[in-house]
Amino acid sequence: MSKIIGIDLGTTNSCAAIVEENGQVKLIPYKGGEFIIPSIFAIDDKGNELIGHEAKRQWQLNPRNTVYAAKRLIGRSFHTDVVGQMKKSVAYEMKAGERNDVVLDVAHKNFRLSEISAKILNKIRSVAQDYLGEKVTRAVVTVPAYFTDRQRQAVKDAGKMIQLEVVRIINEPTAAALAYGIGKNLHETTVIYDLGGGTFDVSIIEIRDRVFEVKATGGDIFLGGLDFDQAMINYVIEDFNKKHSIDLSGDPVAMQRIKDLAERVKIDLSSREQAPFSVPFVTMTPQGQPLNIDFVFTRKLLEDLTLPLVNRTVDILMRVMNDAGLDPKNVDELLLVGGQTRMPVVQKRLQEIFAKPPSKGVHPDEAVAIGAAVYAHSLEDNSNLKLQLLDVIPMAIGLEKAGGEFHTVFPRNAAIPNAKAIEATTSYDGQTEVAMRIFQGDHAHVSHNELLGDFLFSGLKAGPAGKARLEITFDVNIEGILTMSARDLETGKQMKTTVRVTQH
Ligand code: AMP
Repeated sequence: MSKIIGIDLGTTNSCAAIVEENGQVKLIPYKGGEFIIPSIFAIDDKGNELIGHEAKRQWQLNPRNTVYAAKRLIGRSFHTDVVGQMKKSVAYEMKAGERNDVVLDVAHKNFRLSEISAKILNKIRSVAQDYLGEKVTRAVVTVPAYFTDRQRQAVKDAGKMIQLEVVRIINEPTAAALAYGIGKNLHETTVIYDLGGGTFDVSIIEIRDRVFEVKATGGDIFLGGLDFDQAMINYVIEDFNKKHSIDLSGDPVAMQRIKDLAERVKIDLSSREQAPFSVPFVTMTPQGQPLNIDFVFTRKLLEDLTLPLVNRTVDILMRVMNDAGLDPKNVDELLLVGGQTRMPVVQKRLQEIFAKPPSKGVHPDEAVAIGAAVYAHSLEDNSNLKLQLLDVIPMAIGLEKAGGEFHTVFPRNAAIPNAKAIEATTSYDGQTEVAMRIFQGDHAHVSHNELLGDFLFSGLKAGPAGKARLEITFDVNIEGILTMSARDLETGKQMKTTVRVTQH
């Protein structure tokens, strides 16, 4: 059997790793150089598809047909606030798909989100194949802990499209904990604070040598480095408008140049107190005079602009600590994962909360891919590495009751794998089918939660209303993916399950 690689499929950057014959974990380099592949897909004006570095290189000139941060949209319904929010901040076009999912229009071709992920996965796979000199057909892929069932399923689907078997999906913070804790014979409680390009996750994990048990998790799919960039961009645009009465937000090329620079200046400000923010000839006055953006961005200004974002991460962290019944002083180790945790003020805030500095034991950009590779290795046929990852679901799973009320079947932080059965009956005479809408989220009303599917169970023995008894089983596997089934308790027969609406 071929090797199983570990893939960190990130919002902004992706990375792959492998455990080599000698047991060493290696990040897979691209063309002998960098380990990171930008999670960007584009079609250029000649119709060529570009992925990764090639796509990133041309995005200033071709923002309309360059797709980035697509992971934020995967497994989402089109008509939701988050999608509306995203539409405002990207130059590429999105529209509603047949299944109420999001479809992207790139160079007048339609792409589903799982197709975009498939293209990025395929690029990572081909880089790995070049490096290993053999075919790669299996991978462990990481996802944010805060991904729903649908989002996880979409990543599995992406793998299927390119004949890459996603043997296991694991959570990013859990993978990072694995990279940190493996082989150290630890017995400690760790907090993983993972602030990446697009998403924020917190997990509290108890490490007992080779057992990694998640106690609680939480996060936000719309909270990451991109939002820090956006806060800077908004400031720059407003400032320019004040000075010149010109709104740059409708000019995709100017916006792209500002966006690019914002990220670079942000990164610079992690190691300097100030940095120039200058975009020459960004636009022209109505009289044809060229105008520049040119000022000095200070670290203090960046911190002021992004304080609400840092506060949101702290609120989520505190809620998760509370869910786990954990006090900051009982935390043994704090691991920082994700590039955005390099921002000094983030580290300072956490240091204040935990009264100790974060661990230096993991590399923020590499830990997730390394953990995925270690786990992949443990799943290989002849592996003698035995690991136990005990994870949880990040949000409640349940069904819609009359009036749109959400009835919880699994509360958030329920351990997985997990199965639960509920009993149901019929509401009219002769009824042979029962429909049920399943949602995931922590809100009391289903309209605020994500629809996982609209299930129809059929084949029930006809009888008077309220007489039939059926048992509906909710099965959440080790990857956080839900399967539904039903049984007619009278006949003992398994019923047919059809998913009528799904965004998978
Ligand atoms: P990741 O998804 O972990 O690769 O994180 C990428 C995010 O981290 C991007 O938004 C980057 O802009 C951000 N980032 C990378 N390096 C730094 C740095 N030194 N300071 C602040 N943010 C950074």
